[in-house]
Amino acid sequence: MLVIPNFIDMKKSTSNQSPLKIYCDIFGHKYEVSKKVTSHVKEYTCKCCKKQLTTNSNGNLTELTPKFKEINTALEQIYTRRMMRLKQKTLSSSIY
Ligand SMILES: [Zn+2]
Repeated sequence: MLVIPNFIDMKKSTSNQSPLKIYCDIFGHKYEVSKKVTSHVKEYTCKCCKKQLTTNSNGNLTELTPKFKEINTALEQIYTRRMMRLKQKTLSSSIY
């Protein structure tokens, strides 16, 4: 009769911490652009632990808090509206 020792399961349940998080702590986060808000403001997400950063009004990187998410959404709307208007302008001027 095969007896599976209990301590294997115990070991599994105690090692709860994600190894990827430890990797980030040691080697730093691996950020990649997850969203382009405007030509200056971007949102970054860490490939390992999914931590998010964004560019703030000073051009520095800061943690993407719900407040910054709100700001970025507003910025994006203004930016896309402006870009659309610019596009329409160039389109109409190329026709005439
Ligand atoms: Zn990370």
